[in-house]
Amino acid sequence: MPAFNPVDIIISKRDGQVLSPERIHALVAAYTKADVPDYQMSAFLMAAMLRGMDESEAFALTRAMLHSGVVLDLSDVPGIKVDKHSTGGVGDKVSLILAPLVAACGVPVPMISGRGLGHSGGTLDKLEAIPGFRTDLSIDVYRRQIKELGVVMIGQTAEIAPADRKLYALRDVTGTVEFIPFIAASIMSKKLAEGIDALVLDVKCGAGAFMKTDAEARRLAETLVSIGEQFGKHTVALLTEMSTPLGKAIGNGPETAEAIRCLHGEEVPDLMDVTYALAGEMLWLGGAAGSPDAGIEQARAAIASGVALEKFAALVTAQGGDSSVVYYPDRLDTPPAVEVRAPDDLRGHVAHIDALSLGWTSVKMGAGRMRKEDLVDPAAGIVLNKKPGDPVSPGEVLARLHTQKQDELPVFRDAVARAFTCTEDPISPASRLLDRFSDGQWANP
Ligand code: URA
Repeated sequence: MPAFNPVDIIISKRDGQVLSPERIHALVAAYTKADVPDYQMSAFLMAAMLRGMDESEAFALTRAMLHSGVVLDLSDVPGIKVDKHSTGGVGDKVSLILAPLVAACGVPVPMISGRGLGHSGGTLDKLEAIPGFRTDLSIDVYRRQIKELGVVMIGQTAEIAPADRKLYALRDVTGTVEFIPFIAASIMSKKLAEGIDALVLDVKCGAGAFMKTDAEARRLAETLVSIGEQFGKHTVALLTEMSTPLGKAIGNGPETAEAIRCLHGEEVPDLMDVTYALAGEMLWLGGAAGSPDAGIEQARAAIASGVALEKFAALVTAQGGDSSVVYYPDRLDTPPAVEVRAPDDLRGHVAHIDALSLGWTSVKMGAGRMRKEDLVDPAAGIVLNKKPGDPVSPGEVLARLHTQKQDELPVFRDAVARAFTCTEDPISPASRLLDRFSDGQWANP
């Protein structure tokens, strides 16, 4: 093989060539070791996004990122280990409810998650809104906790998929997020490294997702499932709607508070429909239920009995968090909050709430990052008071805002009010659950 030169690889991709697995591996390995700087990797990312990567390159990228660190073997942990990953949306706090819920039903969930990316939130930032909660556990602690508690939630470490940790942060600030091979390699490299036996993917589709159209989202789902199956993991994807925010809260502390309230049994219908559907799949793949539908019933019972909440409390304690928030979630979305009221022309029934606009507004309010080194404000965010289908008239509260950026409040308020559209006639919100892909087939093609 000729000597490794990152500029040659950038130029090959700029000129539209298909890269060999060896060249992709060399580039990823050198970037992980900091032998390739961010500016060269940024150029590569943009070239690849503009010129495209084929399936063989997506697979090679996944493999290179997977082998940038250790690949864990959890075969000494009893049970079928199952995880879930979302392709990213607005208000998506499902993992916080799902991981303890599924573990409480007897299926071990070793979960490695990411931070906020672009306009979409990340599970790690949400967990870290809990004072003291540590997501940087060592592999030894990760291993011990999955054995003892049946659930562990961490981020990529220097040991597990370190290439994804670096690339994820770089993509976030270089406009190179919404590209199927990058999303697939990012998700699958960390999932394959964590020692799972099976995986459920929540592929989001719509204006608030990275995949805006049904066709793109289906292509991403098929790519993800195909990579999972090629690595010998039983992988199922659910296609779910993401043009309006999921649930009511957007932003780390507010979303964590909402997730905890759901573990207490509060009904947030769209959020819990998606959570139960994913739980059903995980319990079925994990061998705890005879079918996904039977798994849904088990999951509902685990919320109703309080065992899922107790598992979450144990998880928070094990990872150093302040478990009082499990019983007093209001501590995470405390006032002062600023109300956004319906303008004079907003009357009738809420037809749509623009998830993409609210995602970016919450980032600007402090809930996400505009630059790689930005710190997030755990308390920042938006809590919706109206959801699609709700009646609304001028002057009513649409949402409450939490931000320290008081100077920019008029801009935030205006953006949030403009995210709502109304219809005169009553509407009932459509189901979030669009389709399911498994064993090479869509349930509703
Ligand atoms: N989730 C990830 O882990 N990576 C992506 O690129 C998008 C969503």
